[in-house]
Amino acid sequence: MRPDHEVIIVGAGFSGLCVGIRLREKGARDFVILDAAPSVGGVWRHNTYPGVAVDIPSTTYSYSFEPNPNWTRAFAPGQEVRAYAEHCADKYRLRPHLRLGTQVERAVFDEAHDVWRVHTGGGELTARFLICAVGPLDQPKAPDIPGLDGYTGKVVHTARWDHGHDVTGERVAVIGTGASGLQVIPELAGRAGHLDVYQRTPIWVLPKIDFRIPVGVRLAFRLVPPLQSLLRLITTAASEVIMVLGIVHYSKVPFLVRITEALCRAHLRHQVPDRALRRELTPRYGFGCKRPSFSNRYFRTFTRPDVELVTAGIERVTEKGVRTADGRERAADTIVLATGFRTLEIGAMPAFPVTGRGGVELGAHWDEHRYQTYEGLASPEAPNFWLMNGPYTVTGASWFSIIEAGATHIVRCLGEARRRGAVRMTVRRGPHDAFTAEMRRRMKGTILAQPSCSRSNSYYFDRHGDSPYVRPQSGLHVWRRSRTFDLDDYEFIAR
Ligand code: NAP
Repeated sequence: MRPDHEVIIVGAGFSGLCVGIRLREKGARDFVILDAAPSVGGVWRHNTYPGVAVDIPSTTYSYSFEPNPNWTRAFAPGQEVRAYAEHCADKYRLRPHLRLGTQVERAVFDEAHDVWRVHTGGGELTARFLICAVGPLDQPKAPDIPGLDGYTGKVVHTARWDHGHDVTGERVAVIGTGASGLQVIPELAGRAGHLDVYQRTPIWVLPKIDFRIPVGVRLAFRLVPPLQSLLRLITTAASEVIMVLGIVHYSKVPFLVRITEALCRAHLRHQVPDRALRRELTPRYGFGCKRPSFSNRYFRTFTRPDVELVTAGIERVTEKGVRTADGRERAADTIVLATGFRTLEIGAMPAFPVTGRGGVELGAHWDEHRYQTYEGLASPEAPNFWLMNGPYTVTGASWFSIIEAGATHIVRCLGEARRRGAVRMTVRRGPHDAFTAEMRRRMKGTILAQPSCSRSNSYYFDRHGDSPYVRPQSGLHVWRRSRTFDLDDYEFIAR
């Protein structure tokens, strides 16, 4: 059977685009990139809430092969990241491969013909190889708070901001104080007539060394691209060293993390004079158990007279507002859900049902038997399939390093399949199990092994208590592995 395409990539965010770029570099043309959205950019297309910006240095937040001289700030705003994604789609001639507005509902491996049958809203597409490049923060999570359906005001999730709705002068309730809440809250304060922030678990916050990149520097980046590449190398290396020491080798240098916590506390003290308020904003779990962030405005926002930090648990949403466990109801014209994403659960990892060998659905299989992969990308249950950003992938400081390593791995595999004339390639059970065991072993010395993480409510942990979100190795190691892993870790079948 001749499939419609050699390769289908699902997701036109930076991961999917990167695989497309690498495939084109290798001369492949028979591939399509599907995405439900009408334009590229993935999370950066969806997250347009006020204040959205990167929170690692912009210089690091780009493909290594495509430095962007247009960043205007040390931490670029979201619209510049979206523009960068559009630029990459154009420059690397991916437009003819894009099938935007295509919702993938499920994918089933047809074992008789060695092809994937990808069911979309517009019908079935077949491909020899399937790559799920939907990021892990794709599906907005509505909180499990009773009464939300009966609320008569406006509800908006940070990841689906409604720019047609103006909150000026309104009473606004924000639920959630993660990385998204931290960015949107200072933007809403002052614009809203009154802001109530419902915090369940405080977030660790570091100062943000943000500044405008002078026009002269941007011009220099444009005229001498290696200059920016060098800066990228430096900022990436610096972030990498900090992350690897602090996260992967935590048990050897816990004092580094304690120093970071002290810095966060000093930052809080500097911005919030009121001791009781400071206590409410101070996490009771170790730094790194869940995603920390950077802001120079977040803590200060709670000192405004028109902003209230509410820490009594939410009992329910009423018709007109939010009632807390202490029996108090606060009216709200708009509720902003900064409540994050579905991550390590069926339907989210992977983002749609993927049925591989013997009718095994990957998400359900992982949910029952714990998350496991080979190199964070492949599973023996799913031949001819890779999951970018799957279990045990997030490492180092930059998504782009993770993405590029994943794309390198996959494109090597596809090249080898072509060389061997294979119609089926499946990662072998042995290397897969060895990789997963190694990840679980290494996890014991990481920052996520701190006992206080049990108090953190962190989406880094799944229902088994595993933390397969993170790959406890350095970015450099992962980069090297993507180029050197043994291709015989896969079984190839030619027909
Ligand atoms: P998140 O980190 O999962 O935070 C969700 C927040 O909502 C938490 O404070 C959570 O409280 C709260 N929440 C959820 N359900 C609740 C309920 N029923 N009642 C009360 N509170 C509830 O989500 P996020 O802030 O959207 O961030 C997700 C990830 O997106 C980040 O970790 C980061 O990787 C990424 N992100 C990146 C950037 C950036 O780079 N610039 C910006 C934003 C987001 P608990 O903690 O108690 O569960």
